[in-house]
Amino acid sequence: AVVVVGSCMTDLVSLTARLPKIGETIHGHKFFIGFGGKGANQCVQAARLGAKTSMVCKVGKDSFGNDYIENLKQNGISTEFTYQTKDAATGAASIIVNDEGQNIIVIVAGANLLLNTEDLREAASVISRAKVMVCQLEITPATSLEALTMARNCGVKTLFNPAPAIADLAPQFYALSDVFCCNESEAEILTGLTVSSPEEAGKAALVLLRRGCQVVVITLGAEGCMMVSQTDPVPKHVHTEKVKAVDTTGAGDSFVGALAFYLAYHPHLSLEEMLQRSNRIAAVSVQTAGTQTSYPFKEDLPPTLF
Ligand code: ADP
Repeated sequence: AVVVVGSCMTDLVSLTARLPKIGETIHGHKFFIGFGGKGANQCVQAARLGAKTSMVCKVGKDSFGNDYIENLKQNGISTEFTYQTKDAATGAASIIVNDEGQNIIVIVAGANLLLNTEDLREAASVISRAKVMVCQLEITPATSLEALTMARNCGVKTLFNPAPAIADLAPQFYALSDVFCCNESEAEILTGLTVSSPEEAGKAALVLLRRGCQVVVITLGAEGCMMVSQTDPVPKHVHTEKVKAVDTTGAGDSFVGALAFYLAYHPHLSLEEMLQRSNRIAAVSVQTAGTQTSYPFKEDLPPTLF
């Protein structure tokens, strides 16, 4: 099974011809609510590929929280350790997108920041029974660190996605990561290097590897990803397919969710093969609009991926 310790966010999206100025009220032409948050996105993708999944997270005791729990359940995800709190609202992202696709976004993490180490201890049974634990940085770093520590102590494989990245990430995060997976801009923040080509990503991956991860993967959008590991410390480029990208929002989360699925359910595949398949799944997700709405189900994918 895959357990995700991470975030849930409600996306409130307004589409407008142009972005409003300060103090201005304008009419938009469309509004929709989407389910987001890196943790839940990754969990949904893993679940849709057939993983047994649990989401350890915190939402508000409000209608967005109730709706989010319903969304997790509809994706077949266990919500036994999805907590609801009266002390904060469900995490929300207010997003305005203009006709050129430019956006302004305000994220209020809310209840996500109240997920604490006591909650994790309550969820210890589900963490210890998992094959793979996934976490990110949309909850407090102390909670992520405790989740990684608990997983490591139980021999559960850890997949850490340091997003959104912070420049002074505590060294324990690297040591506790079996697989450390980030995108180019996160790699830049973490290493201070410029990362805009596969070669540069390879160099950054080596820097991150030396901090103590077992495996480092840096995703490169349409270029696929770079991988490097302690057992094979020569950076390798894993290409993806050429597709017509419609909306790349959440592609990284689709990739991480797919990788979690392969680590848990196809552990005998080579790392390169897992990444090739994760690339293919994320490439499907960029071909339709939305975040979770664009994530493919097992039934939509070629059987050779399973
Ligand atoms: P993020 O969503 O975090 O910015 P990336 O842009 O690196 O992450 O994308 C993550 C993964 O999604 C890539 O490694 C690749 O597999 C897939 N992907 C993203 N954009 C494209 C694209 N234009 N064509 C094909 N695959 C893509």
